[in-house]
Amino acid sequence: MSAKITFFPVDNGDMTLVRLADTRVTTLLIDTNIRVAADDKADATPDVALELRKRLQYDEKGRPFVDAFLLSHPDKDHCTGLAKHFWLGALEDYPDDDLDKHDKRIVIRELWSSPMVFRRRSKNHTLCADAVAFNKEVHRRINLWRTFRSAGNGDRIKIMGEDENGKTDDILAIVIKTGQKFSEINGEYSSLFSAHLLAPAPRQEDELEELLSKNHSSVIMNIELLASIFSSKRVRFLTGGDAEVAIWKRLWEKYQYTPDVLEYDLLQTPHHCSWHSLSFDSWSTYGEEVEVCQEARNALGQARPGATIVASSKKILDNEDNPPCIRAKREYLSILKPVDGIFHCVGDGKRPETIEFEVSSTGVSKIPAGLAVGASAAAAAAPRAGRK
Ligand SMILES: [Zn+2]
Repeated sequence: MSAKITFFPVDNGDMTLVRLADTRVTTLLIDTNIRVAADDKADATPDVALELRKRLQYDEKGRPFVDAFLLSHPDKDHCTGLAKHFWLGALEDYPDDDLDKHDKRIVIRELWSSPMVFRRRSKNHTLCADAVAFNKEVHRRINLWRTFRSAGNGDRIKIMGEDENGKTDDILAIVIKTGQKFSEINGEYSSLFSAHLLAPAPRQEDELEELLSKNHSSVIMNIELLASIFSSKRVRFLTGGDAEVAIWKRLWEKYQYTPDVLEYDLLQTPHHCSWHSLSFDSWSTYGEEVEVCQEARNALGQARPGATIVASSKKILDNEDNPPCIRAKREYLSILKPVDGIFHCVGDGKRPETIEFEVSSTGVSKIPAGLAVGASAAAAAAPRAGRK
């Protein structure tokens, strides 16, 4: 069994499933964007909830689950459908056991959240209903931890980065500090997985904090995966939500003397292939006059030989749109050229399609459409009706 990474066609939004190469197929879901139209069988919008469920495991009670769910940041296009498709609450109250397996809400065994992201957002923005529901679930789990100092499936939580003013000092056992590497998912060590937490950065002075807040502060991770239990090469997947140019510039300033920290075999273009992740200049205002921010480009440019870059966005058109932005795509193509890499966009086909990669000892390779089916026995046994 090999590790796999799946990008679902969710328009300008993120929903990425990482499956490890272990026998029980440990799963990490990064963000979710299941729009109402995707739930409408009569609508042409891809049924990404079904596509996700086909790839998940079911527990001994027949409940679908992910081992971990990371919300990169609480924007609508990263958490839409959360309250409808995932169970947010205590497992003993799970209400869907009598429903059809495709209608049962998905259990999140461990939540990965960043309180700093909420702090930055709450200053300037109101949260959408799904983000409010996520926040409430985060607090339920943190309160449980504060009371019992332990947690089981469905109650576990990790905080990605320390909060300000010592607010997380009493729960450091569930905090991953920025700059730290970790290999545990849902309370279990995995030799097939490790993640290096690169952002959010600890709280800065007010002026800088304001700038980072405007730059879509997100959790940024460089995830290492082993292709299989027999493999020794660690393949890198760099993912960073909607983080924009000032954040990537700061990361380069921090790691310019150890650029291998930022190396990747697979990169998810930040902010749906936005030009604002690569430049301070406005594409719609200045067009071809825009200049790339060299430091941000360096941070996003540490592509290994044969690397792949994926845009989770609408179709990328040669126009003034941003995101996705044709100028950003061109910059990523120029990053890939010297390493003979490949660029993909989930929106670029005749119709938006799920793109799935198999992790191999040399990097990642795209699984041909039609063969990209869930690897688990449970998923393979799932009803085929409605498959596309
Ligand atoms: Zn976004």
